[in-house]
Amino acid sequence: MPAALNPSLLVAEDVHRHFEGMHAVDGVSIEVPTGKITGLIGPNGAGKSTFLAVLAGTLPASEGTIVYDGQDITRMPAYARARRGLVRTFQLPSEFARLTVLENLLVAAPKNRGDSLWGALRGKGYWMVDEQPLIDQARGLLKRFGMTAKESDYAGTMSGGQKRLIEIMRALMLKPRVLLLDEPMSGVHPSIVEEIHHYLQELRREGLTILMVEHELHLVERLCDSVVVMAQGKVIGSGTMATLRQQKEIVDAYLVG
Ligand code: ADP
Ligand code: MG
Repeated sequence: MPAALNPSLLVAEDVHRHFEGMHAVDGVSIEVPTGKITGLIGPNGAGKSTFLAVLAGTLPASEGTIVYDGQDITRMPAYARARRGLVRTFQLPSEFARLTVLENLLVAAPKNRGDSLWGALRGKGYWMVDEQPLIDQARGLLKRFGMTAKESDYAGTMSGGQKRLIEIMRALMLKPRVLLLDEPMSGVHPSIVEEIHHYLQELRREGLTILMVEHELHLVERLCDSVVVMAQGKVIGSGTMATLRQQKEIVDAYLVG
């Protein structure tokens, strides 16, 4: 089936992830609708980050099946998933503090090119010729995200919000079809929250499929087309924020934890 017709680019079926008897993810099944923004909410410790890691392949599933664009990827390593367009960001910013903002984007590029970049970053000059298309791509993202002036600054000197933007741009360097975002607005100044909100809407308009963990329910309400609620490793509800708000057991589980 052509990708454009696949209604759910990413499907998880009865996914489990145990940590030595601890059921962090305990039988989660969801379908992530193509071209939409799906929110993933739930109290601290619900298993949201673990589930995202299992979807991205940075943690193996203990049980269950993950299907991406019609293909079973359950046992595929994270880098191979990323190369196919399934890309995650991390809950804590993971930028390389002592590389510049531009270099942070360049080293995020697909592995075959990243290898040569890693070497090249130690000896200036060489990559300017070989990697021009990547540099153009990175500069295009910096322009779009209003970060052009920061290109040569060390990433470690950026604000919390700018680090989030770097994280998103690094993911976009991989030209994803599905983006998994873990609290992309946390630790971010309200003005940049609005910016990130705007960029995510723009990415959706361009056809990107997004699954995002987010704590702030009013942001979820404004941004997400539908929402999945997790508690204690399980899905306890899904639908629009408006319908979920009317379900007492979900409000209780979410607010009380
Ligand atoms: P959330 O992102 O919803 O706050 P997490 O996925 O981070 O939840 O954590 C779910 C549960 O799994 C928590 O109880 C957490 O302590 C546990 N957990 C997460 N990662 C590990 C790990 N690497 N080893 C052991 N337990 C873990
Ligand atoms: Mg988390």
